[in-house]
Amino acid sequence: MSETINLKEHLKHPTFALIGSISDAEGLETYVIGGFVRDLLMYRKRDHYDIDIVTVGSGIALAKKVAFAIHPKLKVTVFKNFGTAMFRNEEVDFEFVGTRKESYRLDSRKPIVEDGTLADDQNRRDFTMNALAISLNKANYGKLVDPFNGLGDLESKLIRTPLDPDITFSDDPLRMMRAIRFAAQLNFRIEEQTFAAIIQQADRINIVSKERITEELNKIILSNKPSVGFKLLEMCGLLKIILPEIQNLKGRESINGIYHKDNFYHTLEVLDRISLNTDNLWLRWSALLHDIAKPVTKRFSPALGWTFHGHNFVGGKMVPKLFNRLKLPLNEKMKFVQKMVLLHMRPIVLSEEEVTDSAVRRLLFDAGDDIDDLMTLCEADITSKNEEKVTRFLANFQLVREKLKEIEEKDAVRNFQPPVTGELIMETFGLQPCKEIGLIKSAIKEAILDGEISNNYEEAYRFMMAKGKELGLKPVEG
Ligand code: ATP
Repeated sequence: MSETINLKEHLKHPTFALIGSISDAEGLETYVIGGFVRDLLMYRKRDHYDIDIVTVGSGIALAKKVAFAIHPKLKVTVFKNFGTAMFRNEEVDFEFVGTRKESYRLDSRKPIVEDGTLADDQNRRDFTMNALAISLNKANYGKLVDPFNGLGDLESKLIRTPLDPDITFSDDPLRMMRAIRFAAQLNFRIEEQTFAAIIQQADRINIVSKERITEELNKIILSNKPSVGFKLLEMCGLLKIILPEIQNLKGRESINGIYHKDNFYHTLEVLDRISLNTDNLWLRWSALLHDIAKPVTKRFSPALGWTFHGHNFVGGKMVPKLFNRLKLPLNEKMKFVQKMVLLHMRPIVLSEEEVTDSAVRRLLFDAGDDIDDLMTLCEADITSKNEEKVTRFLANFQLVREKLKEIEEKDAVRNFQPPVTGELIMETFGLQPCKEIGLIKSAIKEAILDGEISNNYEEAYRFMMAKGKELGLKPVEG
């Protein structure tokens, strides 16, 4: 039985014993609760530890006393509105709160929060595995308090709500996203009734702020095998609400017996494949979004079958709107994703043909420093069932990578700076700002990219003189 389990061996951080002794002196019952306890019981290592402490009393007052005992100058951050306080000690964040009882009414999203017992506090938790608490008071130090058999659920890898799931999800619909996020992160199964309640309540996700939804979405995307989370999101009806663009990828249409592939499953395969090679959230987002414009650009013609012309361009345009809606950053991260979506076909097209220097140079010019990420995306995008085709593509990609390296060393066009400036053109031909300057500049750039001239001042200068002459310009004397 879980009541008899003692975990004091696992509470090595000296702060735990200190919290216990100060609580004893203050006559407070105090516990460590939530994710830390769950991860500890799963032997799950984290890069950074956030430890939640609950006390039957004032969390803020206890945090201040403990922090003072550690060091009189240790900084305590207080969130008065939430009744919480936190400090950092030896790289670990300790967050304190008083045990509370929450009751929700249908007509309001905000719960009525009152002081409560440990049991009340455990009742308001999202899942049985997150409601596990360990006592820190000396008399019971290390004792596990597990009213809902969270330990059993951890052992059976099961996600289950402590109370009726309809109530738990209706009270805070974000918990539906959290259930799926934990299923994806921990490779757990969502218990049947819990999942049925998510299907039932999916629409209520609309009352949750986009920021909270996106935080969970990002965690799903960053899990080891994100397709697990996305398949669940699709199955329960949440995907069509939060990411209709991805939902729309699902399905295979046929005309004259000719089917196109199911772009939802293809996308998930690309996302899983790229996740083996990168933890970069934005590169993973690029994989998720690379084909989003396929449904809107889809055409059928008897001669060509199914085509998705321009889906990379249209997809690139969809990215800012989607980022804006989901409250994702609209800065260079968004621009990166947009660029990846826009360019995602380029290396593939290139590798299908003879890999010429000028095509590689142009790719390098357009992708700049993001070229390696683009190659990673394209390699993940090869999901054909045809082994021979995959081997051939990957071999061609290897060739493209080698060529890229060679050209980069030779021509340095990755972050192209024109070797001849607009000012020099103006000076040389005695010009005021006019369109000829732009014409000459872009002719020089094209000549470099085509390999007609090398990327250096002398050759570019000679080319500028010839081009000027062609345009009827005369160099000024002297
Ligand atoms: P992770 O650190 O991987 O995000 P976590 O469980 O620690 O996982 P937090 O968001 O830090 O996640 O939450 C800490 C604890 O607070 C949870 O373990 C759970 O007990 C409780 N909790 C968090 N969010 C909710 C919620 N929306 N509803 C109910 N309880 C929640």
